[in-house]
Amino acid sequence: MTGARARSNLIGAHARTLSADWTRRGATLAVERALEAGFDLIEVPAPTEGELSAEDTRRLLDSTGLAVSVSLALRPEQDINSTDDGRCRAGEDALGAAVQFAASVGARYVGGVTFSKLARYDRMPSVEARANSIHVLQRVARRAAADGIELGVEYVNRYESNLLNTAVQTVAFLDELAAPNVGLHLDTYHANSEDPSLRAAVTTAGSRLKYIHAAENHRGALGTGSLDWDGLFAALREHDYLGPITFESFSPAVVSEAMAIEVGLWRSEWEDVQVTATAARRFLAGLLASGPEVSYERTIGAS
Ligand code: MN
Repeated sequence: MTGARARSNLIGAHARTLSADWTRRGATLAVERALEAGFDLIEVPAPTEGELSAEDTRRLLDSTGLAVSVSLALRPEQDINSTDDGRCRAGEDALGAAVQFAASVGARYVGGVTFSKLARYDRMPSVEARANSIHVLQRVARRAAADGIELGVEYVNRYESNLLNTAVQTVAFLDELAAPNVGLHLDTYHANSEDPSLRAAVTTAGSRLKYIHAAENHRGALGTGSLDWDGLFAALREHDYLGPITFESFSPAVVSEAMAIEVGLWRSEWEDVQVTATAARRFLAGLLASGPEVSYERTIGAS
């Protein structure tokens, strides 16, 4: 098969890009903004105390036509990349709760920093901590598989985990983990810091690539930084990537101070949610629609 193929990547937005939290008010605002910007999918961080239940979330999303994915980043007290039994248990509980929430809201994917805490480590990686992470994820994956849910492992830069910082490391980790419903979650901000190129990250991930966070090198508005978006999308086409591509960018104008501190958001790259989100969706849709050099390569390859 050569020539133009119908593409079906869902274009998503992270809920925290759109509003501060998943309370009734925050969730309603996020959904309204996602719809107005024309997104297909909303990524909902697994809710915490005081936020909407799975049932209320499903009710809110039901009539919108929005697809939903779920994410989480393990907290220090939930670090499964550790030799502390209590932390490993707390991490397994958090992952299990996220899977249960996903199943209840009709999501098919739970991704994020699921393999480690999201924080700078004060120690070298260890074989024992890594093995704990793998064993916990194997158990969570078995439960997720029963609900038809895939898990994603989102490797992050060296300042936010000591375990997985590159696509090569993540593929090796997934090979060891050996669960068919666990895949690679590529965040372009992190990959840009640690991989040879975005194109190389996609090639390394191959068919394991399940989900993408589209984030600029400065984590601001898409297309205003130095990322090689054309190279990324050429690679996605070469590898027939058909999964979601989700815009992730945070602004102090939107998120809570606690979250800003957590992700190191010390300055504002943008203020207007609707303008930024709409531009991001158009930017990603434009990239998906372009790319003649790839069909040329595919034509040669198929002849
Ligand atoms: Mn991300």
